[in-house]
Amino acid sequence: MATYRIKVDPDLCIGAASCVTIDPATFQLNDENKAYVLDHGTEPGERTYERDVEMTDAEKDNMILAAQSCPTLAIFVYDEAGTQLFPEL
Ligand code: SF4
Repeated sequence: MATYRIKVDPDLCIGAASCVTIDPATFQLNDENKAYVLDHGTEPGERTYERDVEMTDAEKDNMILAAQSCPTLAIFVYDEAGTQLFPEL
C-alpha cells in the first residue's frame, strides 16, 4: 500500500467521464460535471478535486489507467514525496 495524491484540474475537465467509467471508486462527476476525487467510494470531509488516497498497486494501476483515459489530461497523480507520476514529465 502507498498513498497517492490525486488531483483533478476542474478548468481542464470537460466531464467526459471516462475516468468515472474506469475507476468509479476514485472519480465521480459533481453537479458542475467536473470529476472530483473519492477515497474508495467515500467522501471523507468535503467533496474535493484533490485528495490523498491509500491504494494497493492494483488500485493505483487502475487509477492511472483512468488518468490516462482522460482526453484533456485533467488528472494529475503524485507519490508521497510529491513527485509527479502522471502525466509523465
Ligand atoms: S476523464 Fe477527464 S475530462 Fe472526463 S470527467 Fe474525468 S477528469 Fe474530467
